[in-house]
Amino acid sequence: MSQENTLKSFFGHPRGLSTLVLTEMWERFSYYGMRAILLFYMYYSMADGGLGFSKSQAASIMSIYGALVYLTSVLGGFISDRIWGSRKTVLYGGILIMLGHIALATPFGRGALFVSIALITFGTGMLKPNVSEMAGALYPTNDYRRETGFNIFIFGINVGAFIAPIIVGYIGQTYNFHIGFSLAAIGMFFGLVQYSIDSKKYLSSESLFPNDPLEPEEVKKLIQKLIIWIIGISLVILVMVAFNIFNLSNVITVISITTIIIPVYYFIMMLSSQKITKVERKRVVAYIPLFIAAIVFWIIEEQGSVVLAMFAEDQTNLQLWGHSFPASWFQSMNPLFIMLYVPFFTWLWNKLKNHQPSSPVKFSFGLFFAGISFLWMMLPGLIFGTNTKVSPLWLLTSWALVIIGEMLISPIGLATTTQLAPKAFQSQMMSMWFLSDAVAQAINSQIVKNYSQGHQIQYFGILGIFAILVGIILLCASKKVKQMMNLID
Ligand code: GLU
Ligand code: ASP
Repeated sequence: MSQENTLKSFFGHPRGLSTLVLTEMWERFSYYGMRAILLFYMYYSMADGGLGFSKSQAASIMSIYGALVYLTSVLGGFISDRIWGSRKTVLYGGILIMLGHIALATPFGRGALFVSIALITFGTGMLKPNVSEMAGALYPTNDYRRETGFNIFIFGINVGAFIAPIIVGYIGQTYNFHIGFSLAAIGMFFGLVQYSIDSKKYLSSESLFPNDPLEPEEVKKLIQKLIIWIIGISLVILVMVAFNIFNLSNVITVISITTIIIPVYYFIMMLSSQKITKVERKRVVAYIPLFIAAIVFWIIEEQGSVVLAMFAEDQTNLQLWGHSFPASWFQSMNPLFIMLYVPFFTWLWNKLKNHQPSSPVKFSFGLFFAGISFLWMMLPGLIFGTNTKVSPLWLLTSWALVIIGEMLISPIGLATTTQLAPKAFQSQMMSMWFLSDAVAQAINSQIVKNYSQGHQIQYFGILGIFAILVGIILLCASKKVKQMMNLID
C-alpha cells in the first residue's frame, strides 16, 4: 500500500473500511432485496407470476435458505484461511452471488430457484465472513477505533438492507418479480466493480494470501474428506429415494438436523482439545448459554422476513396517506430501526462505561424485547379477529421492539465471541456466531410451517412466552455465567 493511500482516511478510519463497507452494503442490498420478494414469488400462483408453492412450503424454504447461507460461512472461512486468502475469496463469492440473482431473473421457474439458492448460499458463505474479517484486520489489536469501525460497518449493512426492499420490493411486486431480481443482480454488480477497483488501492497485500496455507499432505486428507462427504450425501439421497421419501419437506428436515449438529460438534471439539487452557475452556462453557440465547433471539428476528411478511401481505392495510404500497416495504423496518438506534446505544454504552450491565444480562433483556414483540402481535387478532386487515402500526411497533433486542444481542454477541475465543480457535469461534443464526433458521424451517392466519394468536403467544422464559433463566444464571467468562486474565 502506498504511503498516500494509508494516510487517506474515512471518517478518521483506514480508507479500506469504506471499500469493505460499500461492498457489504451492496451485497446486503442484493440479499435483502431478493428476500423481500422471494417469499411472495414462491407462493404466488403461476398466473400471478409466482411459482405456486404452498405458503407453508415457501415459508419453510425461506428459513432453510437463510440457515444454509450462514452455515456456509464455515466453508468461506476455511477457503480464505487455507486456500485463496480473503481478497480473492470475497471476489469469487461476489461473482457467485451475482450469478445467483441472474438465475432468478430468468423465467426458468423452480429449477432456476434451486440453482440460485446454491449459488447465493456458497457465494455469501465466501463473501460475508471474510469482509467482516478484513474489516477487523484493518486495526491493530488494541486500536480504540475498532468498535466504532464495526458500528460504521453494521450501519452500512443496514443502509443496503433498508434501501433494497423499497426499490426491489416496489419493482418486483408492482411490475414483475424477474425485473426485481435483476435489480438485485445489478446491485451486486456495482458492489463488485467498486470492490475490484478499490481493493487494489486500499486493502493490504496480506489479504491476497491465505494465512495458513494447506500443506501438500493436508490437500490429500482434504480430498479424502471431500470424497467421504460426497459419498455420504449421495448415500442419504439414495436411501431417501429407495424408501420413496425424497421430497422437499424431508430434504429440508435433513438439512435442519445437520445444521443443528454442526455447532454441537464444534463445541465438543473445542472443549476436548489439548490446545486450550483451563481458563479458555471455562470461557467456552460460558459461551454455551449465550449461544443458546442468541439462537432463541434469531428464531424471532429472522421470522420478520417470513411470518411477519405474510402478516403484512394478508392482514395489513397497505395504505399510507391515500397511496398503496407493497407488503415487501415492511422489510425495511428492521434495518431502519437499527439505523435509528445505533447512535443512541453508542451514546448509552459510552456514558455507562464500567457501570454497564454484563453481556449475559444484556442478552436476557434482548430476549425479553424479542418475546414482547411477538406477544404484541397477538393483540390485533385478539382485538379485531384474524380475518380482517389492521393498521401498519401493529407491525411497525413489533419491529421497533424486536430491534431494541437486536441492539442488545447482535453487536454485544460479536464482541463477546471474539473475547471468549480460545487462541487456537479464533476463526472457528467467529463462525460460531453466524452458526447461531443458521441453527435458528434451521429450527424455523420446521416451526414456520405451523403458522397460519387461524392459529396465529397461539403461534405468537407460545414463541413470545418461550423467548421471555429463556431470558429469565439466563438472567438468573447471569452472575455465574459472568464469573465463568473470567475476562480479566
Ligand atoms: N442481519 C445481519 C446481517 O445481515 C446480521 C446477521 C447475523 O449476525 O447473524 O449481516
Ligand atoms: N437486521 C438485519 C442485519 O443486521 C438486517 C435485516 O434483517 O434487514 O443487519
